[in-house]
Amino acid sequence: MVAGSEAEAAQGEVWALRAARVFDGETLHEDFPLVVIDGSRIATIERTVARPSDDLRVLDLGDATLLPGLVDAHVHLAFDPDSTSKHQEIVDEDRLTIVTRMRRHALQHLRAGVTTVRDLGDRDYLALALRDDYGADPEAGPEVVAAGPPITRTRGHCWFLGGEADGIAGLQAAVAERVTRGADVVKIMATGGVITLVWGPHESQYTLEELAAATEAAHAAGKPITAHAHGPRGIADAVAAGVDGIEHGSFFTEDGVEADWRTVDAMVKAGTFVGATEVFLPEGVVPPYVAGRLEQRSANFARMHREGVRIVCCSDACVGPRKPHGGLPWGIIRLGSLGLTNLEALASATTVAAEACGVADRKGRLSPGYDADLVAVAGNPLHQLEALLDVRAVIQMGRLDGSEQLGI
Ligand SMILES: [Zn+2]
Repeated sequence: MVAGSEAEAAQGEVWALRAARVFDGETLHEDFPLVVIDGSRIATIERTVARPSDDLRVLDLGDATLLPGLVDAHVHLAFDPDSTSKHQEIVDEDRLTIVTRMRRHALQHLRAGVTTVRDLGDRDYLALALRDDYGADPEAGPEVVAAGPPITRTRGHCWFLGGEADGIAGLQAAVAERVTRGADVVKIMATGGVITLVWGPHESQYTLEELAAATEAAHAAGKPITAHAHGPRGIADAVAAGVDGIEHGSFFTEDGVEADWRTVDAMVKAGTFVGATEVFLPEGVVPPYVAGRLEQRSANFARMHREGVRIVCCSDACVGPRKPHGGLPWGIIRLGSLGLTNLEALASATTVAAEACGVADRKGRLSPGYDADLVAVAGNPLHQLEALLDVRAVIQMGRLDGSEQLGI
């Protein structure tokens, strides 16, 4: 992280950024708008060619596009991408080791232009601690929205994170614990998963009644709940239970992929978010279980989007080596390649993702009064999404990072 003297001087004062283009979350403005920043907030976006007053310090980024800071709605800051033994490692590690790694990963997101992350699975509520640290010092890292340990059945998917709970009473107690701890969202493992092959991804870990009890408990406490769900039954039950989001939404059967379009219709009617965990680096391997099914799952996401499902582009960083922290732009590019327009793909990681994370009143848009979280990329990502990989500057709560690249 580079904080040049000029960047530091920006704190608490009014300054401005100018770039050839500004994407405000909905519309691309190509008339060299001036984004005026006051402390940690966006003050105004001026679209006149009139010279700003001489007193206003303006950083001109030239042929770049300013976008809202990206929002990755599904990460695991505690996971190490290169670890081959995630389970035992995380059980045995001391907290300082895990937190140190989480901080490093959080900064990797920030450098990629991801200014908000939602952590959907930690150990010992460490993501909440990190959230509070960054909340006290907002320039130190991205905004963290945190679930704590995901709720899972005994020895179920990701049991090693410490969130085991069984039966209706057990689930209600688990939700209550998360509410007491101050979790922003409840995460529940409705089905098995790929990295803990105890229950297969297609198999349900909880009944409809159990999922409904957990959902009711979360909502009664004013908290959203999102369900990890790969299998058709688990997805259908979670949607019927009234969860706010489905993570993965893979529709994996025992030996393939089979979307249930009635369930998809129910998602559209309920406004359920679907976290499309489509981030994969171009090189490397994916687990064999998933490899043969990805194309079909991706095509299903595109159709779900066309049918009106609120698709959220997210990474699931770092469940594997092709899902690095800070890899979100690859997911946006992938959604664009599946048939979403470039604007829709960008919205899925800005405005829509901010809604899914419950921060849409402050994040995901460039608008007066919103947090000054911005990323500047070279070129025009509305023409070519690959431009997102060429980050020129990141502004987090009004603080400029990336001054080294800019030579200021
Ligand atoms: Zn995950």
